[in-house]
Amino acid sequence: MKFARVIVDQSGGVALDYAIPPEWEARVQTGSRVSVPVRQRQALATVIELLDESNVPGIRPILKVVGERPILSPNLLRLARWMADYYCCPVETAMRAVLPQVIRKGNVGFKQRLVARLVQAIDPAVLAELERRAPKQAALVDTLRDGETMPVAALLKNAGADRAALQSLVRKGLVATENETVTRDPHEGETFVLAAPHELNPEQVDVFGHVCAAVDQPEKPLLLHGVTGSGKTEIYLQAIQRVLDRGQSAIMLVPEIALTPQTVERFKSRFAAMQQSVAVLHSHLSEGERHDEWHKINNGAARIVIGARSAVFAPLENLGLIVVDEEHENSYKQEEAPRYHARDLAVLRGSLEKCAVLLGSATPSLESFHNAAIGKYKLLRMALRVDDRKMPFIRIIDMRLEAHGGEAPSIISEKLRAAIDVRLARKEQSILFLNRRGFSTSLSCPACGYVSECPNCSISLTFHRAENRLICHLCGHTAVAPNKCPECKAPGIKFAGFGTERVEEIVGKLFPKAVIRRMDADTMTRKEAYRETLTAFRTGKIDILLGTQMIAKGLHFPNVTLVGIVNADMGLHMPDFRAGERTFQLLTQVAGRAGRGDVEGEVFVQSFTPHHPAIQFARHHDYDGFAEQEIEWRKQWEYPPFSKMVLVTVRCAHQERGKFSLETLHRRLKEHLPANTTLGEPAPAPLEKSHGNYRFHLILKTRTVQKLTRVLNEVLEKLTFPEDVTVTVDVDPYQLL
Ligand code: ADP
Ligand code: ZN
Repeated sequence: MKFARVIVDQSGGVALDYAIPPEWEARVQTGSRVSVPVRQRQALATVIELLDESNVPGIRPILKVVGERPILSPNLLRLARWMADYYCCPVETAMRAVLPQVIRKGNVGFKQRLVARLVQAIDPAVLAELERRAPKQAALVDTLRDGETMPVAALLKNAGADRAALQSLVRKGLVATENETVTRDPHEGETFVLAAPHELNPEQVDVFGHVCAAVDQPEKPLLLHGVTGSGKTEIYLQAIQRVLDRGQSAIMLVPEIALTPQTVERFKSRFAAMQQSVAVLHSHLSEGERHDEWHKINNGAARIVIGARSAVFAPLENLGLIVVDEEHENSYKQEEAPRYHARDLAVLRGSLEKCAVLLGSATPSLESFHNAAIGKYKLLRMALRVDDRKMPFIRIIDMRLEAHGGEAPSIISEKLRAAIDVRLARKEQSILFLNRRGFSTSLSCPACGYVSECPNCSISLTFHRAENRLICHLCGHTAVAPNKCPECKAPGIKFAGFGTERVEEIVGKLFPKAVIRRMDADTMTRKEAYRETLTAFRTGKIDILLGTQMIAKGLHFPNVTLVGIVNADMGLHMPDFRAGERTFQLLTQVAGRAGRGDVEGEVFVQSFTPHHPAIQFARHHDYDGFAEQEIEWRKQWEYPPFSKMVLVTVRCAHQERGKFSLETLHRRLKEHLPANTTLGEPAPAPLEKSHGNYRFHLILKTRTVQKLTRVLNEVLEKLTFPEDVTVTVDVDPYQLL
């Protein structure tokens, strides 16, 4: 008798033992999905270990094995366990991230369709007879070709026949019907034209050589720092080709926001000859599509997986390479449990699978850059744009000088306006970037000082003019926009601040003849809208594209020669130690959209703090300069990468209860803290209230995360909090508000 140790779904992660009935011994393996009895009911579970003996008294047998093969490889299982340990969550929660829900539940299957085929070649005499006596049956036989199957629906349509005619043929034994599995292809009906690889330039050749060496003999992860337009993607494509040639497979991670039709098309086109081997995973797939893509990967049909962060768990075998494009992107961090970072997991998975890992960015995260500096990663560089294209020229516009006679400066400065004018005259395109949607960011009463705040969150409501409503960008609360002050009833309520909707209006007035299109979460509600807008822009039907970060990443439009950043300061003054880094990254990335064709690009950055280092270094395309001073500052304050941060958040609708809960936790932690750990003071979070809950923060800094999370887990287990109090632990947090 053999035994299996399993973790039951939705159980919090306790391991239980069951006996394996002899007839299933071969099928039950580590990573198999099984159905087991838990008290009076049945539950799905994942096998995490096989045992030769078990001392559980009255051990019960496994009831059923789900699927033919294990669906979790030993390495993915290890990854899940590491995640649970490091990110301080139950193993079961970690396994939930590794296996898509649609696979775990097992309630969606392959799509089936009925197909028909000729049982054997039809005798001409039989056909002649049919033509005379049953023309519809003859038409059916005629439509079917020897040795080929045809979907019944299409067959009936093409032959102009009905089901009864088909049934007669089946009864006569001339035609057979059967069910066939069809894959739901999210890119069905799209055609991809084969795109040949470019001949690499000298810088690329050098980098490619290092990447190939790593693929052949994986050592440490590679960090490719290549300026925007230096041809990083071309390197990824050729490296993946190399991996395929070796008979291996590859994962290509891209930020969700960069998973544009443009990116997918580039990959699908390069590998057009083997399109079915490319699987795409992103959040817009239907359950059925996700199911099919996952199985395509798991059964080895797909050998390249492109996807957002969860694609790091793609069940590919024989991995040769994991690429993480735009490795600095915050969207690689999952903001719900398990709060993992896909770039860090990619590095870990690479070492488990013994495959090469390539991280690429024009603005590497300071964590990765530091890892390269201390020799954990190997740094590769590409400092030049492809084809001698110049880096765009960046001008900083000091908005303080734009204010005249006490009036607020206009949202589009005179210099930026003139630059757009030039582009319109030359039939070139412009991009305007603003990281805030809506019309105005707050509504206030000049008479009494009233500001329209969300009743559930401690932020002001944004006015959206199209709907004529005030909307909370956090919880979605909406209210009718008042036309007089709700407090003091004075008229003359004022809109302050601006969002994309307002800029669209202003730009429309400045350039009445230009075609302007806005791209933000408000205008892109339809699934197809994004694609349509990008196509219209690429084909020159739009002069000015205005948008939020949706337009900042990964887009490549050769005719864009001007980028205007309407308000560069927006993210700069956040209470977050990464505020400077984020601003630098954003400016560099957005600026990188300009001058990707033959004409040199120009960038206008409007700012009220033009001398801020993040802005000045971005202006001079000086990543190293920025990184150097930022690293110095982080070191001084022991911020990551010089420490690991753990953020504990307490949420509660009742302010005092929330505060008290965190204070209790703080006291307990103080008694048990491992060495090398600094414990901050419990305090209200910068965002004090959200979705009706008060929020409190506790920040810990340590060198040894796992030691700390172990203590945290123990302390949390012993404490009981009031029922309405939620405690979350975020290791390596990216959201500090
Ligand atoms: P990055 O990913 O670094 O921003 P891309 O790989 O998108 O840069 O390259 C920018 C443009 O240059 C793309 O249109 C790409 O097809 C083209 N390109 C890349 N490498 C070469 C090359 N060696 N020769 C010619 N064109 C290239
Ligand atoms: Zn709200």
